[in-house]
Amino acid sequence: MRAFNELSVLGDYMAIRYDIENNVLQIDGNDLHPQSLDGNFIGLCKNCNADVNSLSYHSYAENMIVIAKCSSCKTIFAIVYDKDWNWQDEETITQFFSLKDSNDLRTLDSIDKKRLATVFTPAETTAMYAKARGEKYVRQYLYRARKKYTDFEELFDVRLNI
Ligand SMILES: [Zn+2]
Repeated sequence: MRAFNELSVLGDYMAIRYDIENNVLQIDGNDLHPQSLDGNFIGLCKNCNADVNSLSYHSYAENMIVIAKCSSCKTIFAIVYDKDWNWQDEETITQFFSLKDSNDLRTLDSIDKKRLATVFTPAETTAMYAKARGEKYVRQYLYRARKKYTDFEELFDVRLNI
């Protein structure tokens, strides 16, 4: 089977992630919101032979990418078709992400570090970043940070919701 990274349009397949709650596919840091959430029969699972049904449809470059889930083993696949719906490639989705966390991280990254430091202690900042990255964080510090979000918004007009 060809790998995603041999398809020039898809680049490095390691950068493909899926938010299963919001049906958002992320490729190389770009969020691809679904064009359709139709649940169609796509084919049989290569692991267990059960039905695989679509979760969401995304367009990417000239291709369509269908995200589909096996009804039995729950494996999630990304299946690539060209614009004429010819099968191009298929990969198992192994990396997942949270759209909210991803957006939180972008918000944090867009804020000048000095501004963060005027309101939050280093421990609180570390906790906010860790939460946004989906890593372990010290709850106590995040709770303290959250109490300052209103102050931060009043000062810098940026609303945090981490
Ligand atoms: Zn299966």
